[in-house]
Amino acid sequence: MGFIHFFTQYDIGLFGHIDEKRGIWMKTIGMIGGMSWESTLEYYRIVNQEVKARLGGLHSAKCLLYSVDFEEIERLQHENRWEEAGEMLGCAAQSLEKGGADFILICTNTMHKVAKEVEESVAIPLLNIADATAEKIIAAGMQKIALLGTRFTMEEDFYKGRLIDAFALDVLVPNEPEMDVIHRVIYGELCLGKIDSDSRQQYIDVIDRLVEEGAEGVILGCTEIGLLVKQEDTRVPLFDTTEIHARAAVEYALR
Ligand code: GLU
Repeated sequence: MGFIHFFTQYDIGLFGHIDEKRGIWMKTIGMIGGMSWESTLEYYRIVNQEVKARLGGLHSAKCLLYSVDFEEIERLQHENRWEEAGEMLGCAAQSLEKGGADFILICTNTMHKVAKEVEESVAIPLLNIADATAEKIIAAGMQKIALLGTRFTMEEDFYKGRLIDAFALDVLVPNEPEMDVIHRVIYGELCLGKIDSDSRQQYIDVIDRLVEEGAEGVILGCTEIGLLVKQEDTRVPLFDTTEIHARAAVEYALR
């Protein structure tokens, strides 16, 4: 004799998905952060502000954070040990899934190089940062876009290639010496919490040159760049991936 149990609103509430007062269903965001923690703080702030803006009152985001030791990750990146890095983030994703996360965010552009490994280690979905950003660019009616980020992001197919192949965008990247500056400032300054006005000017010079080359907008394709360069620093629209990804997470959580 089988036992059939129909889930009620009360049951679902036990799992934390139903807001008892308003009946709002909110998914729990699972964030793999700490890469660097300087930008993960921004994610945390934005998801909470966005939920509050949409739902009002004392509402805030339901989220879990697995924050890694970035020194370990950065070493694996620069020693080209991506498989190990993928396993590490895959384990983090599994912890989040076990903890009750409904979907995963990798809170860095660069580590989307191992997005496939992370996706394959869990049953819950991953919200890809490049896809969320490309959708915004297309919605803004733009085609030719500049991309700033780490060398991995600016040069490799997992990110730049995805924008071109899956979204048909024309992607402009800095030249060699410019790439050196962009990459060095990310790891040597921004990920250490250092905000330097000379570095800001160097970034603005690169942006200006790419705009002269025809870029209609610029992807801040590293989650720390928004801490250095602001919209008011330039005349072209900036697509800040931290902001876009965090807001897309709230959109998905409330869908
Ligand atoms: N947070 C940066 C990014 O969005 C760089 C740090 C990292 O290597 O993950 O790419």
